[in-house]
Amino acid sequence: MALVVQKYGGTSVGNPERIKNVARRVLATQQAGNQVVAVVSAMSGVTDSLIKLAKEVHDMPSEREMDVLLATGEQTTIALLAMAIHSLGAKAASLTGAQAGIVTDGVHTKAKIANITPKRVHELLDAGHAVIIAGFQGETPDQQITTLGRGGSDLSAIAIAAAVKADICQIYTDVDGVYTADPRVVKDARKIPEISYDELLEMAALGSKVMQARSVEFAKKFNVVFEVRSSFNDNPGTIVKAETRSMEDVVIRGVAVDKKQAKVTVAHVPDKPGMAARIFRAVADANVNVDVIVQNVSEQGTTDVTFSVSTDDLKKALVTLEPLVKAIGAGGVTAKDGIAKVSIVGVGMKSHPGVAADMFETLAGHGINIQMISTSEIKISVVVDLKDADKAASVLHEKFGLGKK
Ligand code: ADP
Ligand code: ASP
Ligand code: MG
Repeated sequence: MALVVQKYGGTSVGNPERIKNVARRVLATQQAGNQVVAVVSAMSGVTDSLIKLAKEVHDMPSEREMDVLLATGEQTTIALLAMAIHSLGAKAASLTGAQAGIVTDGVHTKAKIANITPKRVHELLDAGHAVIIAGFQGETPDQQITTLGRGGSDLSAIAIAAAVKADICQIYTDVDGVYTADPRVVKDARKIPEISYDELLEMAALGSKVMQARSVEFAKKFNVVFEVRSSFNDNPGTIVKAETRSMEDVVIRGVAVDKKQAKVTVAHVPDKPGMAARIFRAVADANVNVDVIVQNVSEQGTTDVTFSVSTDDLKKALVTLEPLVKAIGAGGVTAKDGIAKVSIVGVGMKSHPGVAADMFETLAGHGINIQMISTSEIKISVVVDLKDADKAASVLHEKFGLGKK
């Protein structure tokens, strides 16, 4: 008997019919002779509307209360899915993150999983239940409800698969795998049969929201092999696993677009040691992730420091930096949205020179202006105007031969 962990995302449980569809899939997996744990997200749109509600009450709501609020989304789904399985005459029990033994640190809205004690999960499985666990949530050692960052049900599923030593981990979503680019943006995108943790990690971190980046990081760390596939058909999906030699033959695996980007500029920073350190320490202490950083040439003893952040963190970054700007004697802090980050990713880049030049020439050839650049061993990212983002993704996808042949 195999132990299978399945995760169903928001669209897959988006209405009562779809919840019944998931109930049938869980049961079919069980009837094939397996034990099944299903980790589920909030019904699609629910988390967004809860966030909107909160913002109508307070423009910067307490992060502790946000977690209490957002956890209700997943809690609705677990109960409904358990009921749907009951209506098919089978045994199922729902568990919140806390009941499933998921313990996290106390960083509200972006908590990290510290450990999982899945005793109750095993007891219920052994008693013949399908176990339905709320994704995206956990609790601190002193019983505060926490959530794991947007898209965090992916992380719940991977972490639970590791904790229960699952034989199979399947991430069911509304596309049938990881594609060479978002199939909703690049019509020509192709499904990737196998991808390495590092490549998917970069794609996810760079805006391909098919998997939460942190979940892929976790899978890599604990070597959880998983498959991304569709809850609406039975097509084989994408297998995500450690890098193999043959993966390096492909120069570019995929193109990622992140449209939720904003640029923050701290102007006229005194040009002396320790200034950048103070700026980025303050931002880090506010739990804001900084991405591309540019510091321009110093003129008259000052420099401008510009960096990109997620639009979700923009307000927090500005609130943090305003007092600091005064303290360090900088000129001021400004923000600009309406930008996007477009990236190409592939482990093959390590052994193939000239990729950056090809990328920049292609964008130039289509009249797309590059505002910022950042690179790592296996990715190149550029910040461009939001209006150019989809076109940039399409032309790069074509340039690197990723489309349907
Ligand atoms: P879920 O609710 O199941 O977690 P998400 O909406 O978080 O699903 O992620 C699935 C979506 O990710 C797809 O509908 C697709 O538009 C988007 N996506 C972005 N980049 C990619 C990619 N490279 N491959 C597949 N899907 C992608
Ligand atoms: N419901 C949460 C979100 O929308 C978590 C998830 O769906 O993975 O971000
Ligand atoms: Mg998701």
